[in-house]
Amino acid sequence: MSIVALAGGVGAARFLRGLVRVVDPAELTVVANTGDDIRLHGLHVSPDLDTITYTLGGGVHPAQGWGRDGETTAVATELRDRYGRPAWFTLGDRDLATHLVRTEILAGGGTLSEATDVIAAAWGLEFRLVPMTDDPVATRIRTTDGRTLHFQEWWVGERAAPPVADVWLEGAAGARPAPGVLEAIAAADVVVLCPSNPVVSIGTILAVPGIRPALRRACVVGVSPIVAGAVVRGMADRLLPATGTDVSALAVARSYADFLDGWVVDRADEDAAAPLRQLGLAVAVTDTVMTTPDVAASVAGAALGLATAPAT
Ligand code: GDP
Ligand code: CA
Repeated sequence: MSIVALAGGVGAARFLRGLVRVVDPAELTVVANTGDDIRLHGLHVSPDLDTITYTLGGGVHPAQGWGRDGETTAVATELRDRYGRPAWFTLGDRDLATHLVRTEILAGGGTLSEATDVIAAAWGLEFRLVPMTDDPVATRIRTTDGRTLHFQEWWVGERAAPPVADVWLEGAAGARPAPGVLEAIAAADVVVLCPSNPVVSIGTILAVPGIRPALRRACVVGVSPIVAGAVVRGMADRLLPATGTDVSALAVARSYADFLDGWVVDRADEDAAAPLRQLGLAVAVTDTVMTTPDVAASVAGAALGLATAPAT
């Protein structure tokens, strides 16, 4: 069984912790969003790749769900207090080591995929982790007051407060899927959409030319990141309206209708099961709030079960 998972950050990492309990990690390729990537203090920061790496590698900050455990911020404090550098995005000391390694590889002419391989190996990841693209892309937000911000400036810098008029992946037209991405999708028995942000995680992966058409030829199942008309965490509820999509498990599945075959919804969204089945989707209804890796494993099992179930 060969599996591809499309992933954002925290929601994805929690799900993947369960997925690796129910499949052989050697048969899993995780394709991660890089639209959140940003250069800070000269360093290339890849938040979603790192959240996945730290979570599956056993080094994530457990309460936050991102960043390193046992983290300190001596460098960030020095940058701010002594050098007066912008401090809206704090890079932890341990986390900085990852960005240094990545940036050094890129500066030496390596690709983001190659940097990711080196970092994943250092963390002992047993599955293959690849960025969606090696090309430079960035998620941009246009606010209703007419400013264009990097996603991180809006989300971290302004705490998602400014209402959003538009959101897009800058550089998408010229971006190519990273080496192996299309091949892995074509060879997959099932592609799983992690419960990730439909706009700035899954949406950005879909914006890379070639990926969406490849998914139309694959068996694709997903887990709804929307539970009872709300996000479990994050800011998808601030972004979905700007893309014309309601904040509901049903509407998100509809936005994937051209390639989606199965959808896992929470028990709170049982009402969505009938209309989803009318769309031709296989549907599973279960507890999807992944409070523990055990719950995540059962959500992953439900998703994989849809890949083999005939649509009803
Ligand atoms: P980010 O990059 O940290 O924003 O992480 P993702 O894009 O992977 O995930 C954010 C999305 O995951 C949000 O829409 C959340 O509602 C959803 N999410 C987070 N935790 C859970 C969970 O336990 N269950 C479900 N169903 N969705 C979740
Ligand atoms: Ca993210």
